[in-house]
Amino acid sequence: MRVAVVGAGAAGCFCSIELKRRLPDVTIDVFEKDRKPLAKVAITGGGRCNLTNSFEGVSSLKEVYPRGDKLIRRVFSTFDHKDTMAWFEREGVKLTIQEDKCVFPASQDAMEIVNLLTTLMRRLGVRIQTNHKVESVKALLGEYDAVVVTAGGRPRESDLGIFEGLDLELVPPVPSLFTFNLPDSPVRELMGTVVEDVTTGLSGTSFKASGPLLITHWGMSGPAILKLSSRAARYLADSGYDATLLVNWTGGKDAGTVREELIQTASTNPLRHIYNSHPERIPSRLWSYLLSKSKIREDSKWAEAGQKGLNRLAETLTNDTYHIKGQSRFKEEFVTCGGVALSNINLNTLECKNHPGLYFAGETLDVDAVTGGFNLQAAWSTGYRVAVSIAEK
Ligand SMILES: Cc1cc2nc3c(=O)[nH]c(=O)nc-3n(C[C@H](O)[C@H](O)[C@H](O)COP(=O)(O)OP(=O)(O)OC[C@H]3O[C@@H](n4cnc5c(N)ncnc54)[C@H](O)[C@@H]3O)c2cc1C
Repeated sequence: MRVAVVGAGAAGCFCSIELKRRLPDVTIDVFEKDRKPLAKVAITGGGRCNLTNSFEGVSSLKEVYPRGDKLIRRVFSTFDHKDTMAWFEREGVKLTIQEDKCVFPASQDAMEIVNLLTTLMRRLGVRIQTNHKVESVKALLGEYDAVVVTAGGRPRESDLGIFEGLDLELVPPVPSLFTFNLPDSPVRELMGTVVEDVTTGLSGTSFKASGPLLITHWGMSGPAILKLSSRAARYLADSGYDATLLVNWTGGKDAGTVREELIQTASTNPLRHIYNSHPERIPSRLWSYLLSKSKIREDSKWAEAGQKGLNRLAETLTNDTYHIKGQSRFKEEFVTCGGVALSNINLNTLECKNHPGLYFAGETLDVDAVTGGFNLQAAWSTGYRVAVSIAEK
């Protein structure tokens, strides 16, 4: 039996190792267009490789996989994050789970993962052909008994040309995981400010996210923004990255509750300067900015703010608005929303419904996640599932 794998990335390498272990006599040719395999894995997690997540506190897969949660649920029944951790530990990689539940090699070195996977492939006799760009999956299907496409994300529609002639349903690719440009906002002067536990949303939609927020010199970033960009990736692309961002600086309290709290503070500290009594969670520079946005003089005392002033402040704290105009990449750590539609495949085996012997795994599918190790987890789980499917067949 001969199997071709298109792309020596996380999914392709993992799949070929697991397939060769199950079927030692199978010939596996992995085609990689770049000079080296696993080039992207080498730079994941800022070179540390956030290879999975403990999933502690994740209440639903949809929360972390805006696209493909149903597929992930299926493949997790064969190989999930716990299996992934056990797999790498069995291969000698010590792992560490951070406070934020992200899992890294204890060495904090992505090259440990790259070297492990390439060594295993070499030892097992998987053949890797680098500098070899596959132009047509259809042509490979004629030559091999099975073809596994693990060609990763495709930010440009033209990259989907390899699927020509297969009559697949393709979801137009758009970027996910980006930061927001706020070119008109003076908030950018507060660059470097971090606020823990902020809730973000987009006006007129139900998209929401929460977590730390970072103000940058071009706009806003941090988990609360990246998560929102992931959940609303398609909506934002369709709107030309022109939308209204809503920020709740209070960690999700509603305006009524915050108004009551402000009235309470004003009645117990009438002579105190408002500027000096900012909530602990809001840094003083940001507090000063939010006061000015609420038309409250910085040097005024609580008693002078007045009912209307406190109402405006409560509104700014819970429903602050910014005009998003454009997006920027976050440390180049973007993933692709879109790709091969899940309607093309059998969700249990990842085999193409119309082309027996053709399989897909990893980001080439219309599956992507928020940051935190979930994207690589999707690559390991789908790669593993394809290996099992081919072996079972
Ligand atoms: C900078 C950066 C940092 C990231 N950090 C993390 C992280 O810490 N944790 C996490 O979970 N996710 C992270 N991600 C996302 C994660 O890297 C991807 O989701 C994951 O690598 C997808 O695996 P894959 O095998 O599907 O694709 P890839 O790893 O991208 O591999 C696809 C391979 O296919 C090759 N290829 C494409 N087309 C062809 C062709 N026609 N012929 C031959 N070869 C082809 C490509 O060159 C590539 O090597 C990061 C992404 C980036 C860009």
